[in-house]
Amino acid sequence: MIERIAFVVVLVAAVLLFTRNVRRISRNIKLGKDEDRTDRKGERWALMTRVALGQSKMVVRPIAGILHIIVYAGFVIINIEVLEIVIDGLFGTHRVLSFMGGFYAFLIGSFEWLALGVWVACAIFLIRRNIIKLKRFVMKELDGWPRTDANLILFSEIALMTAFLLMNAADSTLQQHGIGHYREVGSYPVSGRIAEALSFPAQLSGTLVAIERICWWFHIIGILAFLNYLVVSKHLHILLAFPNVWYSKLKPKTEVANMPRITGEVKSMIDPSIAPPEPAQPHLVAGVEMTERFGAKDVFDLSWKSLMDAYSCTECGRCTSECPANITGKLLSPRKIMMDTRDRLEEVGRTIDAKGKWEDDGKSLHTRITDEELWACTTCNACTQACPVNIDPVNIIMEMRRFLVMEESRSRPALTSMFTNVENNGAPWAFGPDRRMEWAEEMKS
Ligand code: SF4
Ligand code: SF4
Repeated sequence: MIERIAFVVVLVAAVLLFTRNVRRISRNIKLGKDEDRTDRKGERWALMTRVALGQSKMVVRPIAGILHIIVYAGFVIINIEVLEIVIDGLFGTHRVLSFMGGFYAFLIGSFEWLALGVWVACAIFLIRRNIIKLKRFVMKELDGWPRTDANLILFSEIALMTAFLLMNAADSTLQQHGIGHYREVGSYPVSGRIAEALSFPAQLSGTLVAIERICWWFHIIGILAFLNYLVVSKHLHILLAFPNVWYSKLKPKTEVANMPRITGEVKSMIDPSIAPPEPAQPHLVAGVEMTERFGAKDVFDLSWKSLMDAYSCTECGRCTSECPANITGKLLSPRKIMMDTRDRLEEVGRTIDAKGKWEDDGKSLHTRITDEELWACTTCNACTQACPVNIDPVNIIMEMRRFLVMEESRSRPALTSMFTNVENNGAPWAFGPDRRMEWAEEMKS
């Protein structure tokens, strides 16, 4: 009975904490500007099925892709077994789903092979990160918590799979010897070998029951802890990858969204019969009146989708490894753009939690992302193409550049003269429209 009460307390606490964290993340994402991404629904479902569920962009790099699919399938499928653990924990039963007979044996056997696959894949991932040290895993932006976070989760998965297999090894031995309520059910292709290798003697039934119980508790507490860890780590992508891909940009990747108000201003300048647009109305965000801004100074000026992108980033670095600016030694890393956006969003969220509403802290996205990084981008969209969960770092870069140019008059010298020419001559060149033919004649000769 005490065990059942303890189980209920742990389960309820974990679910409440998870719900609170999910609410916080949802509130943070909603701090972004409105944007409608609900058109072409059929296309969106197909895209989500292919890219998020089918992991089509992961297998572009086959070894990492296949290993990731094993870990992902293991995470999803082995957790079906958690359902049985929860029912057993709540009602004091043991292997309650075993009434399914042969199908139950098939399930447990498959879980065991998957658990072994996850164990091996995580070990290879650890080796790639810490021994082989692939370039994208040793870059500066991963120093500190991001590197620890990645390793911690891999070690946790190995520990969880070990506990699962050890639990089954002790259980199957108890079953074979018909001890207590341990009836012969299931199939144990992997843990059976572990039990043989460890030569669990039936005489030590008390020790075996203790091993089985400890591993059972470790497994379920580990999974509940993992659930709550997800929401404070890059592993949130396990949950967010699906909606994030569903809400992908379906327009051509290189299409830059116009600002309706600026378009309206230009139209009214060209044609005086068109009335200039009305000034935008201030709107409330986190209890504060926000006025319209050109481009993005802070997270409030980005679309909610860019903020969801930031939370969905797996920090895999595929974008950075394809980025021509990064490859040629520039400071820009699209992965860092996403990490900085998420870190700033979290910082803003903490201020709102502490003060009950947003209070300017004198910082912004530009405190973390430098002009040099922003202007290094060629807008080639190789990063967006490479991202396995369709994240769009270019949108954030373009919005931040817009702010620099339109509100701060800060741009590269070459661009400044181009802007002046466009303003004065209606073209990027340093001569007026009346001299265009002269230029054309010169080019001909
Ligand atoms: S769009 Fe910019 S950030 Fe993305 S790969 Fe190209 S240069 Fe790099
Ligand atoms: S933006 Fe995409 S490709 Fe880049 S690190 Fe994040 S998840 Fe990986």
